[in-house]
Amino acid sequence: MQLLAELPDLWDVKMDSETTDCAPSRFAPEGSHEPVISFVKSITGRPVVGVGRFTSPDAMVGQIRRGVLDLIGGARPSIADPFLPKKVGEGREEDIRECIGCNICISSWHDCVPVRCTQNPTIGEEWRRQWHPERVPAAPHAATVLVVGGGPAGLECALTLGRRGYEVMLAEAADELGGRLRFETRLPRLATWSRVLDWRRSQLQRLGNVTMYPGNRLTADEILELHPAHVVAATGSRWVPLLYTPLEVPSGTLLGPNVFTPDDIAAGTRLEDPVVVFDFDNYYMGSALAEHLAGTGHHVSYATPSGLVSAWSIMTNEQPQTYRALADAGVGVHTLTRVESFEGDEVTLVNVFTSARTRLPCRALVIVGARLPEDALYRELTTRREELVAAGVASITRIGDALAPGAIAHAVYSGHRHGRELDASDAERALRRDAPVRTVIHAPTSA
Ligand code: SF4
Repeated sequence: MQLLAELPDLWDVKMDSETTDCAPSRFAPEGSHEPVISFVKSITGRPVVGVGRFTSPDAMVGQIRRGVLDLIGGARPSIADPFLPKKVGEGREEDIRECIGCNICISSWHDCVPVRCTQNPTIGEEWRRQWHPERVPAAPHAATVLVVGGGPAGLECALTLGRRGYEVMLAEAADELGGRLRFETRLPRLATWSRVLDWRRSQLQRLGNVTMYPGNRLTADEILELHPAHVVAATGSRWVPLLYTPLEVPSGTLLGPNVFTPDDIAAGTRLEDPVVVFDFDNYYMGSALAEHLAGTGHHVSYATPSGLVSAWSIMTNEQPQTYRALADAGVGVHTLTRVESFEGDEVTLVNVFTSARTRLPCRALVIVGARLPEDALYRELTTRREELVAAGVASITRIGDALAPGAIAHAVYSGHRHGRELDASDAERALRRDAPVRTVIHAPTSA
């Protein structure tokens, strides 16, 4: 290393492996590269640049002042907010849309699909949809929009509509805004994700044309009485205790007094020990719930048909650390197994390849598999078309999980897109293409 110390013009320090270099916030704090970067800095007189998912100006300045590095690098922070340096320069720290460290952006890279970001729905759409990260088109005319649901999709939609100049009413059934974030950010290691809510709520509070109504569970009748020009249903989704066959065909719903979903845990339902978490969602919820339940004193086992714990989270660089987290929490792991039966005090797991059976004592089976849209309000309203017309409602639209349950990033994107495209013309919604589209007309062939 000493031999190389002065050779490069600049040192750009990378960590040992991708899961630690681009570590998720679940398993590494901001600035986690400091020990490695400071070592490089100690052996060279050349400038050193480093990353570390910096979002706080204090953390950035602190590392420079302490001589850890010379230049701040920021990939994920710049994806979440391309105007971060400008906002720091202008003293507008409260406007920074901070990266939450979820690594959905990195999953796009692993999947070779256009980049998506939980915090910044415009990323990857700057050219194709002409979405500027900071600017939105003005509403073509004045109108009142009622957004029902204050989760990630509803918050982002209300913010985008408010910035466009619409009069926005944001109604939320619970006493607090946040939707799924209210519970999920209380799970182990997910507190940083509350920035999705915190940033949007603080931005909304500055808009005089947006009024928030937490603690208001609106009925269809009440919505008609409000006479909004547009209704947006951002009513989220619900987990269902669905099981499926070895061919991944849904095989029915498992109902019983000791069968639960993440929604039951969120509602504070008390579980009897031992607990088995059966996860075929394969993202963070199953392992985070297992860790949460173990952390609150439960005896917990985790089972999944996949060969890996939280298999899909390999895309977000979370998966290897998830194993360690479950081991540290004392959670027993059973991979390549699916639930065959549950008798109320014992669950039978069957190996997906060998059909070998494992019986585990179980007084609470938590199924983390599928979600369905929570769209009853939307469906009721769409059956009352004449009343909608009489009330002056021109449109009713589902967004986010109420349309298609997905990751938080998808809900934010859905809310942003509807906020942008309300009242837009077909031409304004059209995608730009970087390759010409040729229409091929086949001449009729003679018989
Ligand atoms: S997707 Fe998540 S980790 Fe990536 S930049 Fe956005 S907020 Fe940060």
